[in-house]
Amino acid sequence: MEKLFSPGGAYPLLGGAMEVLGGRGFLVKAGDTRIWLDSAAEGNGVSLVSHAHMDHAPGRSSRIIATPETASVLKLFGPHRVERLIRYDESIDFGGIRVSAHPSGHVIGSSQFLMEGDGVSLVYTGDLNTYDSIILRGAKLLESEVLILEATYGSPRYIFPKREEVYAKIIRWIIETIKAGEVPAFKVYALGKAQEIVGLINAYLEVPVLTSFTISRITESLSQYGFKLDHLPINSPEGLEALRQGECVYVSSKRYSPPSRHRIRWAAATGWALRYRLNGFDAAFPLSSHADFPGLMSYAEESGARRIYLVHGFAEELARHLRRRGIRAEALARVP
Ligand SMILES: [Zn+2]
Repeated sequence: MEKLFSPGGAYPLLGGAMEVLGGRGFLVKAGDTRIWLDSAAEGNGVSLVSHAHMDHAPGRSSRIIATPETASVLKLFGPHRVERLIRYDESIDFGGIRVSAHPSGHVIGSSQFLMEGDGVSLVYTGDLNTYDSIILRGAKLLESEVLILEATYGSPRYIFPKREEVYAKIIRWIIETIKAGEVPAFKVYALGKAQEIVGLINAYLEVPVLTSFTISRITESLSQYGFKLDHLPINSPEGLEALRQGECVYVSSKRYSPPSRHRIRWAAATGWALRYRLNGFDAAFPLSSHADFPGLMSYAEESGARRIYLVHGFAEELARHLRRRGIRAEALARVP
């Protein structure tokens, strides 16, 4: 996450009971209590981590609070100090602020945080997907007075096709590629899209899914939480045999073709494919782990929030659209 700062000091929240500060992080403050969101805590503070994408993970010295799924993935990449786990719908009290975790639909284990105290409620969405996928339900709608909402695709230029249509196109492309004697491969985020693509292939095709080293580790680690995704690590004997034989799909977070006598045909799966040509790929599918513009607008409106702060992506643009609907909304400034 890009570090946020506030040129004028604190962003006021209702009643002044909580504040969102900039500086070296992103902070909710109420009385003596300090809660950092997706950023490194100072002193003895704690960091709430919304999900295990590295741009949201605080430094290794921070005391982390996250869902069990998020903590298990973070631990694969370093000795993070997990202070305690928080499950969906569970709440923890921090010096008068009640914090609860709720699904955000972005990746396995991703969480929104609802903070309540002194008669004020605030929601921090983290990265958000409002639509159901084949492995996850869409984000739970949370009502609050103040909302900190991500705006990655917060522009009307981003209206994604129905997920089922994108899924159908992906499946068709896989079948055509295999029929042509080639190996279909996907370059995707190791946490999120990778599990979705594996789940999609498991559901509709009878071919083995080979996964790169990092994706194998993450997917394996998440299986303890009930996500049973059939895959073969590319470096296992079974994986190598499936690749030699050729009728398989490869899913990797890096675009390195494994040695094979079959040609590897690469596809990307990202929301940006809606508007951009992606160089070096045979195919690109607009499959996103984020909500599109209508998804963000309806979440913002239905949250009932009286004040909305936007972060990431098209924050300014989404703020303008919300203001036109009569909602008090502004983009949080970023370090240039
Ligand atoms: Zn993310």
